[in-house]
Amino acid sequence: MSRERSALTAPTVLPNEAAACARGLSKSYGSGEARVVALDKVDADFGRGMFTAIMGPSGSGKSTLMHCMAGLDSFTSGSVRIGTAELGALNDKQLTRLRRDEIGFIFQAFNLLPTLSALENITLPLDIAGRTPDKEWLDTVIATVGLASRLSHRPSQLSGGQQQRVAIARALAARPEIVFADEPTGNLDSRSGAEVLGFLRHSVRELGQTVVMVTHDPGAAAYADRVVFLMDGRIVDEMDGPTADAVLDRMKDLDARRSR
Ligand code: ADP
Ligand code: MG
Repeated sequence: MSRERSALTAPTVLPNEAAACARGLSKSYGSGEARVVALDKVDADFGRGMFTAIMGPSGSGKSTLMHCMAGLDSFTSGSVRIGTAELGALNDKQLTRLRRDEIGFIFQAFNLLPTLSALENITLPLDIAGRTPDKEWLDTVIATVGLASRLSHRPSQLSGGQQQRVAIARALAARPEIVFADEPTGNLDSRSGAEVLGFLRHSVRELGQTVVMVTHDPGAAAYADRVVFLMDGRIVDEMDGPTADAVLDRMKDLDARRSR
């Protein structure tokens, strides 16, 4: 899938086709001697309807980038835009609403409530918000995740892959602008992982969802349209149309560059 990217070269104009952008995004933890720069002036655009993978060594800032962009963590400087909203310009109430309506987050641990059925887990955030789910959308999401026959099951009655698919359906239920997934297959065997990755890709292709996924697995990254490589809090490389072999080669190059 190739997209016109010329708009990205204009430094002050945020490209319309991006579901989310970071500009000069920096985040440090601690102060003085103990100060850690987790993100160092990151510029990133996540195209609408695109599946982007984020890769990089442990500690390179992948989770920090996701959390800062999803409004789950504050940042030190720079800006983040989700849809038309500048995160820095929002008050707490607006930020809460944005997180609820426009951002889906999928964690490595599925974080399902054990006493609720699959369907109840999926609609829980909407129920808490007092919103009526869009029935047609919900049916589409459930059909796409292939959970229609499992809706009354409790999490303990589902496989790991099925549980993660429930968590993905939950993240998609509000029809968010963007879904962030931090190592969503980290707790799954390779077959369940493939199931989840296939579904994430399907949600991009068939439902037009925008997905950004952290992974350390080249095979998982190959499901994405684009890979962004992070190192020491900076974006050091990008790849369009990744294959597992190409990603693995690039990782070796980056490792070699690093240890030089
Ligand atoms: P990754 O997800 O790529 O493994 P992280 O974003 O979790 O990396 O971490 C980036 C850097 O920030 C690391 O050096 C890590 O030790 C540091 N870091 C992350 N969270 C905290 C925190 N809460 N307090 C202090 N340092 C942190
Ligand atoms: Mg991480």
